[in-house]
Amino acid sequence: MLNHTKQYINGEWVESTGSHTIEVVNPATEEVIGKISSGTEEDVNRAVLAAKEAFPTFSKMSVNDRVKLLEDIAEEYANRKEDLIKIMTEELGAPITKSEEIHYQMGLTHFKQAAEELKTFKFTEERGNSYIQKEPIGVSGLITPWNFPTNQISTKLASALAAGSTLVVKPASKTPFASIILAEIFDKVGVPKGVFNLVNGSGSTVGEAISSHPNVDFVSFTGSGAVGSSLMKNAADDIKNVSLELGGKSPLIILKDADVKKAAKTALAQIATNTGQVCSAATRMIVPEEMHDDFIEAMKELITEFPVGDPQDKNTFMGPQVSEDQWETVQSYIKKGEEEGATLAIGGPGRPDGIDKGFFCKITVFTNVQNHMTIAQEEIFGPVMSVITYKDIDEAIEIANDTIYGLAGYVFGNDTEELKKVALNIRAGQITINNSEADMSAPFGGFKHSGIGREWGDYGIEEFLEPKAIMGMPS
Ligand code: NAP
Repeated sequence: MLNHTKQYINGEWVESTGSHTIEVVNPATEEVIGKISSGTEEDVNRAVLAAKEAFPTFSKMSVNDRVKLLEDIAEEYANRKEDLIKIMTEELGAPITKSEEIHYQMGLTHFKQAAEELKTFKFTEERGNSYIQKEPIGVSGLITPWNFPTNQISTKLASALAAGSTLVVKPASKTPFASIILAEIFDKVGVPKGVFNLVNGSGSTVGEAISSHPNVDFVSFTGSGAVGSSLMKNAADDIKNVSLELGGKSPLIILKDADVKKAAKTALAQIATNTGQVCSAATRMIVPEEMHDDFIEAMKELITEFPVGDPQDKNTFMGPQVSEDQWETVQSYIKKGEEEGATLAIGGPGRPDGIDKGFFCKITVFTNVQNHMTIAQEEIFGPVMSVITYKDIDEAIEIANDTIYGLAGYVFGNDTEELKKVALNIRAGQITINNSEADMSAPFGGFKHSGIGREWGDYGIEEFLEPKAIMGMPS
């Protein structure tokens, strides 16, 4: 049992001012694996005060020293590799191979990337008769979701430290233990007192207290649109800066000349990776009418390449949903899809055959989907795919853009002109052509309801800075 009921404030582990705790459940076994503190508003006040007091010194730390700090963090993060992989497999239910290849690796890359960006980042500029200096934004509140326990938080932490801002962090209470390891890493490498503060607890108490605190200058939030919107309203009272990384309902357009088997495999990987709990996952497959039947047949043949089950098994591709609530949500969307007249081609309601415990869903493919149906419009955050057909490429792009979201878009095929046309016309923050590798030096974030602001690389650092223009600066 992991009992981490202390908060990390002003460089030390301290008791919470409250006595309540929150249990953390392994979603594959449904067993409680530990508990954390259910932090209080008073805990947040202490953490904000520590961050405020640390700001004047840390914001002036030299760039070279901040590069060194990020490199030291990356090194210590690598030393804790086994612990991080183990805990993400237990608290999130991520298959053990994915905990390493995706979750562990993305966190590490953000710290390394930020250190590299910082070496060449331009904090000053001369323009017209002005001297422009980019200054750290101040005390920053970081609030993150459970679906990528190290990735979401590390991209924010790395950018904030690179910029010179000080922090109060609230990770998701469903997956808090990876962040506790991050706090141990920061402690070990000697991040100065008060620069990094971790307050565990619920969103409704700790998250609210951060977003409404008058001494928090900026809130960087990743999570659902509903919480993002209410957080923005809270922040409005103090004219706080806010960045929001929210949900998606991303399209994958398959071109007429695409290899149907490769397209089918790409589509299945999109919805099964991290059990469909990926904000940028493609969940609407937009396929040529004439390819539809072959595409569905190919997925039926390939589905065995995506085994669902025990996250500790190295052969598992897909683990459980993170929680019972999330399992129920996915089930309700599967029911809704059937009620609205879509046809189940693969999977369906309930647990996969042979599994009677844990929050496991079946990889589910709906065909005969109209883009206006609920399953094609709302973010399900589970392994549920909608297959929608198109006649020509203009119609495909129109369907792709017929959504309130704009986080990501995907296109698969060979026709160079059509690949470019699709990439340039989907209204979303990140487009991937033919499974190109992720690039963490490129900006990540959404158009429309998918958010405000960008993370990763130098764009991520910019979020934690304010530009100041000085006219008439003596040389
Ligand atoms: P969520 O319910 O919005 O929670 C996100 C975080 O906000 C958690 O730490 C949560 O705390 C906290 N929170 C809840 N209520 C709050 C409030 N009133 N004030 C301040 N904070 C509050 O989202 P989730 O279910 O964890 O994550 C799934 C969502 O995140 C999906 O919509 C997904 O698309 C989105 N997401 C977006 C990105 C991106 O980069 N665009 C990346 C990953 C996920 P507790 O849960 O601990 O109570």
